[in-house]
Amino acid sequence: MAVERTLMLIKPDAVKKGVEGEIIAHVQKQGFKLVALKKLQLTKQQAEKFYYVHRERPFFDELTTFMSSGPIVAMVWEGENAIARIREIMGATNPEEAEEGTLRKLYGTNIGENAVHGSDSKESADYEIPFFFSGLELVG
Ligand code: UDP
Ligand code: MG
Repeated sequence: MAVERTLMLIKPDAVKKGVEGEIIAHVQKQGFKLVALKKLQLTKQQAEKFYYVHRERPFFDELTTFMSSGPIVAMVWEGENAIARIREIMGATNPEEAEEGTLRKLYGTNIGENAVHGSDSKESADYEIPFFFSGLELVG
């Protein structure tokens, strides 16, 4: 196992619910180190760029409209096997199918508005971290 960095987003639904603090504390309690954090709102075009891999999917327009609909919180977390472990902490894409105690079960609304995003591979993390943060903003 290696120390990895992964990008996580608190999506507009969870920011509207005001559960940013709970989500950050939840991840921190699992032993991960917060190396970057910012609140921002994506434009539709920026959301389309971020989710480019999904451009052919039927939910692409809905997803990018949602992701640009309000403020989000972007974070980089660091730790052993962080990419896979944070995906586990998040739970299944559909909150109804997510395991008890996962972030999506706790805070998600539906399959689209599911509270959090997390990089799904090293390749995704290598695209997603610099999408939001410069090297100077990553404080290990
Ligand atoms: N999504 C959606 N409808 C679907 C599947 C996914 O709106 O039927 C949204 C949802 O917000 C999800 C994102 O698109 O988190 C990316 O989908 P993916 O299958 O990559 O899920 P994830 O990796 O986020 O669990
Ligand atoms: Mg995915």
